[in-house]
Amino acid sequence: MSQPAVAADLAPRIRAGERRALARAITLVESTRPDHRAAAEALLAELLPDTGRSTRIGITGVPGVGKSTFIEAFGLHVIGRGHKVAVLAIDPTSQRTGGSILGDKTRMEELSRHPDAFIRPSPAGTTLGGVARRTREALLLVEAAGFDVVIVETVGVGQSETAVADMVDLFLLLLPPAGGDELQGIKKGIVELADLIVVNKADGDLVAAARRAVAEYRHALAMLRPASPHWRVPVLSCSAATGAGIPEVWGTVGAYRAALDPSGALGRRRAEQARAWMWSEIRESLLAAFLAEPAVTAALRTLEAEVAAGRATPGAAARTLLERFRSR
Ligand code: GDP
Repeated sequence: MSQPAVAADLAPRIRAGERRALARAITLVESTRPDHRAAAEALLAELLPDTGRSTRIGITGVPGVGKSTFIEAFGLHVIGRGHKVAVLAIDPTSQRTGGSILGDKTRMEELSRHPDAFIRPSPAGTTLGGVARRTREALLLVEAAGFDVVIVETVGVGQSETAVADMVDLFLLLLPPAGGDELQGIKKGIVELADLIVVNKADGDLVAAARRAVAEYRHALAMLRPASPHWRVPVLSCSAATGAGIPEVWGTVGAYRAALDPSGALGRRRAEQARAWMWSEIRESLLAAFLAEPAVTAALRTLEAEVAAGRATPGAAARTLLERFRSR
């Protein structure tokens, strides 16, 4: 089948919510083959009017904090309220064959079997930019397939939190029931990205510790300038294991939308994200073209060595290479 025909065939099936067509389309956007890319772009263009109708939630937290347990409990609760939930992931370190973070079959077992859920592991990839682009495109595809709540999980390595925060409406930071020194250990930038903080494992012996952690995080947040005039970042607690507090987390997602939607703040956030995405596409494409130019690669190693040895300035070396690229 020709590539435009692939798009024409898949689009109506995705709109109808056909899972196999959706899975195939995501495989298509994940492919780096030029003909697949062309088909993926045709498909996304056709489906664009059917996208954008979901609540996009990003979730981060250190390994072991309970992200998959939380997403399982939260996802099932949200489905119980009549929604369809898709879960995507960003893990720039994952390789499909090496068992990426959502590839592990024991994770989110009940959710993954639910007919109203769709779970997709992180695309394999070496650059965060590449992995992020494919996840953004998968997000549009699951929206077109009728999933009205999309969760994007990050494993919290590298800059993946920023990449996820840049593609969602609400960024949720899941924290362990500990404060003090461990609070210091959390990368400050991550707290500033959060729209909602949830202390997990508030159960059994950990209830008191969780309560203290909530108080400490509230106190720490009070020192930060709010990122939005419409929203003060709440700190909640929950137990992903028992389900306690999970309905309140979903309720807070609703409150967030209600606070930001009327003023158009959410729409502006999405518009800004789309613009930033376009610029990152331009940067990535330019860089790829630059590195694919033989006149550039021929001189690249030598100039890099000259710069490293202090024999050439970085500015002059960059200009020489760009000149070679321009006059190709
Ligand atoms: P992830 O690495 O962030 O995805 O964390 P997991 O969901 O795999 O959970 C890590 C460990 O914490 C597992 O042993 C879970 O059973 C446990 N865990 C997760 N949520 C809770 C919770 O709410 N309470 C308690 N007590 N344990 C939890």
